Amino acid sequence: MILFENVSKIYNNHHVALENINLEIAQGEFVVIVGRSGAGKSTILKLLIREEKPSGGRIFVENEDITKIPDVELPCLRRKIGAIFQDFRLLSTKTVYENIAFALEVAGREPSEIKKYVKQVLDLVGLADKAQNFPHELSGGEKQKTAIARAIINGPEILIADEPTGNLDVYNTWDIVKLLNKINQFGTTVILATHDREIVNALNKRVVTLEAGRIIRDEQNGKYLI
Ligand code: ADP
Repeated sequence: MILFENVSKIYNNHHVALENINLEIAQGEFVVIVGRSGAGKSTILKLLIREEKPSGGRIFVENEDITKIPDVELPCLRRKIGAIFQDFRLLSTKTVYENIAFALEVAGREPSEIKKYVKQVLDLVGLADKAQNFPHELSGGEKQKTAIARAIINGPEILIADEPTGNLDVYNTWDIVKLLNKINQFGTTVILATHDREIVNALNKRVVTLEAGRIIRDEQNGKYLI
């Protein structure tokens, strides 16, 4: 479903962030990408949503080379791939409900559909009672659950999570990890970048380890070994 073929990324013509990355991810997999800060984890995720373009190599999502698609087709790619980040990236002037509904509005969905889907996804992430709250009225965990709800509302095949628990306490961290697991069990491919050793070791999923822009390990039921 996802294929990185000899991918490299060099920032500003000299800073090598990724070198010769070959990585295949099947539909429905849960893959954890680990590595120290600066190892290239975020860059891999940014390449997948075409926030960055590789300096070399090809990247396929569902048999399409996404390095070649024109910018006008990017919204289509980004509907296939939901994304969440350490800093949540919610719209501060919109309520939880509106933050999530917005993703459907821009996709051109009918108001009746929007109401139905937002309710479903709020129930899924356990935030039905916070629908009318603004981001500043939420805990970190609730903000991340809102971001997850927004990321999955369009039914993406893939969910990428870039250090989603980096700003959360232990209790909220596990809530978010459980939610990612649940979403994966529904069939969504999940790619989680983290440097949280405990999460990685408890998850027992495929672990891809990056070091200085190279994959140094790729193991099923992997552990955090850095
Ligand atoms: P990680 O997510 O593992 O912390 P990143 O993918 O963010 O790693 O970064 C990989 C390397 O690329 C780092 O050395 C970082 O400093 C560099 N880098 C990332 N983004 C940029 C950028 N926009 N311009 C220049 N260098 C960058």
